[in-house]
Parts: sequence; C-alpha cells; structure tokens
Amino acid sequence: MSKSLPLIVVVGLLSAIVHAQEPAAADKSAKPAKDASVAAASEEAAEDPEKVDWSQVDWRKRLTKFQYYITREAGTERPFRNEFWNFFKPGEYRCVGCGAPLFESDAKFDSECGWPSFDKTIIDKAITEHLDLKMVQPRTEIRCRRCEAHLGHVFNDGPTDTGLRYCLNSAAMKFVPEKQLKEELTKTKKTGSAAATEGKPAEKPVAAVETAGEKP
Ligand SMILES: [Zn+2]
Repeated sequence: MSKSLPLIVVVGLLSAIVHAQEPAAADKSAKPAKDASVAAASEEAAEDPEKVDWSQVDWRKRLTKFQYYITREAGTERPFRNEFWNFFKPGEYRCVGCGAPLFESDAKFDSECGWPSFDKTIIDKAITEHLDLKMVQPRTEIRCRRCEAHLGHVFNDGPTDTGLRYCLNSAAMKFVPEKQLKEELTKTKKTGSAAATEGKPAEKPVAAVETAGEKP
C-alpha cells in the first residue's frame, strides 16, 4: 500500500495541474467585495425580530454624550471631521444605538460633502423617513427603524442608479469589518439560529422617499 502511494500522489498532482490550466470561465465575478453568504446573513440580522421596548432604554447610559446628541437630539456633526466621511473599507454599518444593520460598504460613495454617504440601505426595512422642516428647504430625515435613532437625511441628488444620497452622521453608526461579519456568520451557523428569513418584505420603490414623510 505504501508503495502505491507516491504514484497516486503524482497522478493527483498531474490532474491538478491539468485542471488548473483549464480556462476559468466565470472567474471575473470574483469581485473583492462582500461574498453572498455575508450579505444574506446581514439581511437576516437586519430583520432581527427581537422585541425590545426601546422607549425604556436609558440612552444616556448606553451612548456617549456626543452619540446621544446626534441620535436622540437630532444633532449634526461637522463635515470632514467625523469618523467615516473618508473611510471605504469593506464591511457593514450598524446603528450605534441598537446594533441594527443599516448600510453596506458596497453602497458607500464619495459625495464630497464631508459626511458618509450611501446610495441605498441594507434592506428597505432598515430605516424610516420623516419630514424635517427645521431648515428653509424641507428635508427627509432618516431614523433607525428599530430604535428611532436620528441618523441623518436622504436626498434625491444621488449620482448612482438609485438617485439617492443617504447622508449620515458617523457618530450614529458603528462599523463592522467584513472579517468580523464572517466570524459572526460562522458562529450563527454553529449555533443553528439563522432561520429567520420568513416574512421578508418586497423592496420598496425608490419613489417612496418623496412620499413617506409626514405632512406638516
Ligand atoms: Zn437603532
């Protein structure tokens, strides 16, 4: 048996070399972005059915003073002086208040406005929209659907296909790098608790941005 082993190894190696030289048909799809399993897991997490009475949460204990000012008092941080305005690593952005997934790095673009900008949310259900009349020009405020944290605003002047520019406060988000997302996915698979995919809503049309705000 031990004598036949080298032959098997040689045959195996030759076979591997031959296969390696075969044209790789659809290899161009290997974009160094997020893989599909991570994206799917993010969607599941975004729809976390966990019930929490967020009105009972002591936000002052849970957040830093600045995070509190931004997310619970609808504050705005300074442009070009915040954590993510010029940050483009692969991963996911979550609500700093409740941890709900909000945006993926694939949707981030450089809007040159000094705040982190995205062209779409991770899922439609991630945020809610509200008419904001604090400035002369009415704006559409965006909040975390799960804990109602103020996140920023959405505008209809986006440069990509969606036509949207979600303009965020960095302090309203925490970034989870792709490596950690994969680790979370592995953990979830091990514990077998990744089954909550039912009831996923259909994607809301883009035009909803203009209609979803409250009337004055
Ligand atoms: Zn939240």
